[in-house]
Amino acid sequence: MIKTAVKRLPVENGVSGWEAISERSFPVRRLDANLTADWLIIGAGFAGLSAARRLLELRPHDKIVIVEASEVGKGTSGRNSGFMIDVPHNLSSSEYSSGGLDSTRLEMQQNRCAIAFAKQAAEEYGMSRETFDPAGKINAAATARGLKLNRSFAESLRSAGEKHVFLDAAEMRDITGSDYYLGGIYTPGAVLIQPADYIRGFAKGLSRRVNIFERSPITCLERENGEWTATSPRGKVTAPKVLLGVNGHIDDFGHYRGRLMHIFAYASMTAPFPADEFGRKASGRERWALLPADAMGATVRKITSGGQSRIAIRTKYTYDTTVDLTDRRIAKMAKAHRASLEVRFPALEGIPFEHSWAGRLCLSLNHVPAFGEIEEGLYSACCENGLGTVKSTLAGMMAAELATGNTSRHLEQYMDHPEPCRLPPEPFAWLGINTVIRLQELRAGREG
Ligand SMILES: Cc1cc2nc3c(=O)[nH]c(=O)nc-3n(C[C@H](O)[C@H](O)[C@H](O)COP(=O)(O)OP(=O)(O)OC[C@H]3O[C@@H](n4cnc5c(N)ncnc54)[C@H](O)[C@@H]3O)c2cc1C
Repeated sequence: MIKTAVKRLPVENGVSGWEAISERSFPVRRLDANLTADWLIIGAGFAGLSAARRLLELRPHDKIVIVEASEVGKGTSGRNSGFMIDVPHNLSSSEYSSGGLDSTRLEMQQNRCAIAFAKQAAEEYGMSRETFDPAGKINAAATARGLKLNRSFAESLRSAGEKHVFLDAAEMRDITGSDYYLGGIYTPGAVLIQPADYIRGFAKGLSRRVNIFERSPITCLERENGEWTATSPRGKVTAPKVLLGVNGHIDDFGHYRGRLMHIFAYASMTAPFPADEFGRKASGRERWALLPADAMGATVRKITSGGQSRIAIRTKYTYDTTVDLTDRRIAKMAKAHRASLEVRFPALEGIPFEHSWAGRLCLSLNHVPAFGEIEEGLYSACCENGLGTVKSTLAGMMAAELATGNTSRHLEQYMDHPEPCRLPPEPFAWLGINTVIRLQELRAGREG
């Protein structure tokens, strides 16, 4: 018999702007009975929901249950910047593309497989263009170093035969209304999602065939006589196979301890401002999306709906050993967001932030997922290495394939990686990782 008490449950730090402006159109159901199923999925983010969709494709008649601690759209999957990126996006160095040609090509092929899967779901579940927009993205450079990083990124795209377009300062001004940027590179394959709408739309679409229980944290997971039982405060689910889509919380389930880095990312969203002449002058076209040329810089997105625009900005990372943050920390990061916003868009000085929040990423030192069958009948689709809109989608799909015994070349390639390697013990990990982050942020300078 195996029995694990779940050590910690997820916490939402601040209300995400994406969730606040998203409308939920289906009821919350809590787990308040004891159920059996063919499949239990824990976690309703990109990984968990994608695993459920792939399971439905592979085993259309099986009974699938998803259990989520919070509500769909409130966790990290609903509070990110919404860039589904096809091209390399390695956050652990300041250069996105740090691998050789073969690994770059494989990464793009895998990312595109996940994006195609998401696109099919978006179409089937009737998501709007505002929720799932295949508009591409720009890597924006505000410094000479940023321009250099962009050139080196373009070189790696060129050698892989990938389309990309250089934009000069005037073109960047035309798009964003800002004089801040010296140049950019546009790549067409990224999809921009409204993350809370996407996750909610996905869950709503699935809920026709899958039971989704929210506000039902799993506090204990045990295995007896070949069956797993997951316990939540008001009910239990028993199933022969369980897929964990809980990202960094996998170590609270007793797996990969001391191997995963829990990194907080921080973001703020402005109050709405008129999209008319003021909005155009202050911040350019109605919709655009910028990644920083230096991975440690600021991600900035403008959205417009019903004649009102907003800007969402993400900068700053911290490594923390706790799951909840103080309001003071969020306020401090919001101040940094304010400075980044105003230096780019001085005319928006009077537009306050309506929401500031944080969410937890999970990275491994050797940039590999925490993936595979970790106990008999228990599968992990965790550790997204920062690009979970895509990587967790893929991990969920692959976990469903592995668990159903469905062999494919995709799965073989996906599983061809070592385990996440060990981190130094605390407090050395905390000290070392935060020092590296601070130094990289300092080096990013005006890109942040
Ligand atoms: C500010 C910010 C900006 C970001 N921008 C981007 C971006 O532009 N592009 C990108 O690709 N990624 C981005 N990310 C990262 C992205 O959001 C994550 O990689 C992604 O959410 C990971 O998805 P997931 O499904 O693996 O995990 P999660 O989204 O963390 O989902 C795991 C789910 O498991 C649930 N859970 C955990 N423990 C339990 C339990 N005991 N019982 C039941 N349920 C449980 C949680 O409540 C959660 O809903 C950003 C993140 C942040 C915070």
